[in-house]
Amino acid sequence: MNFADSEVVGSILTTAGYGLADTPEEAGFVLINTCAIRDNAEQRVRHRVRELRALQNRKKDLRIGILGCMAERLQDRLMTEEDNLSLVCGPDAYRRLPELIAQVRRQSGEQQAAVELSTTETYADIEPVRLGSNGITAYISIMRGCQNYCAYCVVPYTRGRERSRDPQTIVDEARTLFERGYREVTLLGQNVNSYSWEEQGDTCDFPELMARVAGIDPRLRVRFATSHPKDLSDKLLEVMAAHPNICRCIHLPVQSGSNRMLKLMNRKYTVEWYLDRVDAIRRYLPDCSITTDVIAGFSTETEEDHQATLDLFRRVRYDYAYMFKYSLREGTYAWRHLADDIPDEEKTRRLNEIIALQGQIALENNRLELGREYEVLVEGESHRSKERLFGRNSQNKVLVFDRIPAAGGPAAEEGTYRRVRVTDCTAATLLGELVQ
Ligand code: SAM
Ligand code: SF4
Repeated sequence: MNFADSEVVGSILTTAGYGLADTPEEAGFVLINTCAIRDNAEQRVRHRVRELRALQNRKKDLRIGILGCMAERLQDRLMTEEDNLSLVCGPDAYRRLPELIAQVRRQSGEQQAAVELSTTETYADIEPVRLGSNGITAYISIMRGCQNYCAYCVVPYTRGRERSRDPQTIVDEARTLFERGYREVTLLGQNVNSYSWEEQGDTCDFPELMARVAGIDPRLRVRFATSHPKDLSDKLLEVMAAHPNICRCIHLPVQSGSNRMLKLMNRKYTVEWYLDRVDAIRRYLPDCSITTDVIAGFSTETEEDHQATLDLFRRVRYDYAYMFKYSLREGTYAWRHLADDIPDEEKTRRLNEIIALQGQIALENNRLELGREYEVLVEGESHRSKERLFGRNSQNKVLVFDRIPAAGGPAAEEGTYRRVRVTDCTAATLLGELVQ
């Protein structure tokens, strides 16, 4: 989401006449787009700002600004604490950046802030510049904000209320990308399945939007992230089943395998509901991979709750998981009402157990892939060798293979689809060979 936001910022600033620099050394202004979801994300940004101070000592006119969720969360506090900052700008105020930068330049030394949240801003009319693009895969932001208020989560406070973008602008952006040679788009939102648009009697929900984007061309792959389990409808699964170019991968963050924890987290579903959704996915899309997010050591989590999470992992057998230690965030429901009472070493132990189990499951899942063939969208050179390429299958698994088929025939090219047979694997990657 931040990456897509940086592309919007890039577009706003290039339209205003600024250019992109490749390194901070070449830049007149460094803008850091930030995440506030966990404390360690924020600490990394603080570290970066302090590192840049050394560069500022050598380059007196270098200015630094903070964008995104940390700017929204800390506002003026951030500028007091990091006095080498010239501006802070929240996620709904990016259109004001050219004006803020001009003001910083005019009144050197005076700090500028724009942190107002909006109920309508979607940047729908802005065509993002594609930063560091491979020309093959791109993100499209389809909605902003979130109002689910999960007890641990800072997003509703830093990104404001949920709002959906005009579907026609989304379809147009995807079509333009396809015409320029892109072959995969990922539709982004904090909870994409609650996407909802209505204007003058014209309505569009998420399954309808997916059908419209997938209908652009069968050679355009469509992915999406993230879906909330409470809103994962059969209608969406039906649309996915009807469109082979909608990728067979669903990211379905579970957060915990204990009903007591889910209730305390205000996730609005139970383990039983979640497993019913997993069964529905397997029924409609038998070859679909499922991935998740999980939090270890939320308030009052007992050993029994933790074991319930491990049990759920054994049941669902995820292909991939993003696994986190609980981090208390100021302003959230948990911060106001629930104790952060699991000692850090205990959180780490639980997290490590989940990581070890998931590593084993991912490896076992990958071993089942040996001998299978997949259509792979070739994305680029493998970082280990120029002779090898990598791409992903519909299930979002990375495959690495020789550029030239062993049995002879044309070399694979970036941005094209090729068939690859899986010959070996690790827990993270499938190794394969091109098939004629
Ligand atoms: N909207 C998505 C959802 O609800 O599934 C996720 C958005 S959040 C940016 C990504 C993940 O960060 C969450 O799924 C959760 O696992 C994790 N997360 C959020 N707040 C956290 C916190 N306070 N401590 C640890 N992990 C957190
Ligand atoms: Fe945060 Fe919950 Fe919204 Fe996801 S759904 S962004 S976890 S509040």
